[in-house]
Amino acid sequence: MNLRERIIFPLSGFSGSPGPSRPPAERAASFAGLYRHAFEHSPVYREKYSAAGLTADSVRELPDSAKLPFLEKEELALPGIKADDKATLVSLASGATSGPGVNTQLDREYLLKRYRMLLAILYSTGWRLGDPAFAFHPEEYGAAALFRKALKEGDLKKLAFNFFQESVLYRLFHNRRNFHYSPEAFDAFSAGPYLEKLRAFAPRLIISRPDILCALMRQAAIQGLEFPAAESILCVGNILSASGKAALESSFKAKVYNLYASTELGYVGLSCPHSGVWAHVDEDNYLVEIEGGGRGEVVVTDFSNFHMPVIRYRTGDIGELDSGRCGCGRESLRLKLHGRKKDFFESDAGERYYAYDADEFLGLEKELYSLQIGGRRGSLRLTVRPGELPAGRLEDIKARFCGRFGLSPEKVAISGGGPLSGTASGKFAYFNLERPA
Ligand SMILES: [Zn+2]
Repeated sequence: MNLRERIIFPLSGFSGSPGPSRPPAERAASFAGLYRHAFEHSPVYREKYSAAGLTADSVRELPDSAKLPFLEKEELALPGIKADDKATLVSLASGATSGPGVNTQLDREYLLKRYRMLLAILYSTGWRLGDPAFAFHPEEYGAAALFRKALKEGDLKKLAFNFFQESVLYRLFHNRRNFHYSPEAFDAFSAGPYLEKLRAFAPRLIISRPDILCALMRQAAIQGLEFPAAESILCVGNILSASGKAALESSFKAKVYNLYASTELGYVGLSCPHSGVWAHVDEDNYLVEIEGGGRGEVVVTDFSNFHMPVIRYRTGDIGELDSGRCGCGRESLRLKLHGRKKDFFESDAGERYYAYDADEFLGLEKELYSLQIGGRRGSLRLTVRPGELPAGRLEDIKARFCGRFGLSPEKVAISGGGPLSGTASGKFAYFNLERPA
């Protein structure tokens, strides 16, 4: 054990490896316990489940989840969702860009558990406390932005928590450096300064949203720049396609891991070196279902949050599940994400395509480093970068897009100009669709 591990392991209770998985009977007991707790102590759940004719005993086995109505994001934002009067140690804001804002509240116990789960994820990539790690974040997640926000809200607890997390825990103990990029990074940028930063710090691990890292990688390839090596890359926060993953692996000579995580739920699943973009679901701590089976909305239950239970929560993500033995030897549920439920376009025949498909297409077009799909059904607009491609090349790209996705060319326009729009919070979006009023 290194010095940092000797300090952090006893404080967090992390042992250095994820540990053996729990038998199904124990998981079922966790689920039943969480359900009963929510029924008895959370006004939102009690009312919801009573109205559905359920009692505090309605959940005994994992399949009993099918009896429970789904939880909508609006419900998670209600004050009556909390299931006890214990002090909230930290309240994590999320989701204000796609509907009502949710404040996920964690007590001390679960905050520590989430931290152990984070360490288990990081250790799965081969990283250890103290190894240099480099994180790319949208500017809105920067320490300065968080500081201003907490100061404006007059929230001293949040101020102290952010300071501790960023400056003490991550910087000193994790040896992590952050690089914040602005939304314009996808528009017109040079990959050079980013790669220089990486080269100077020589990280063992890169943590990033895949959209910025892939845009950076594609831009660097177009510019003919040489990539700095990193042993591992942890992608989180947006869709990673198979072609994006393969290109990151060969560019950075790194093992690439795909993490499915959110503020509301924590760390739900992580891919392994054999599972491609599919994430092994952490079945000890989560129940993951697909509404309607097949490909559909991902619905998650978090077994650990007794303070503010999250049961059968509609994530707004579209995905599919697979089971059976993985190349790594584990027999577990695996999840593949396709994109956000509201962000899709349809072929002439009515088949839906999501961010995953947009990213796969982008990976095939070696001249492009960014692409956004706008307009509306029957009249899509592709905006691509770099912006200065000649009209003939743009038409070729459009023809391939229409061919791949079964669209009539007269229903699609393409251009290298016009702004790429991000989300209100400054993140990149593959889609900028007009919605019917
Ligand atoms: Zn595996």
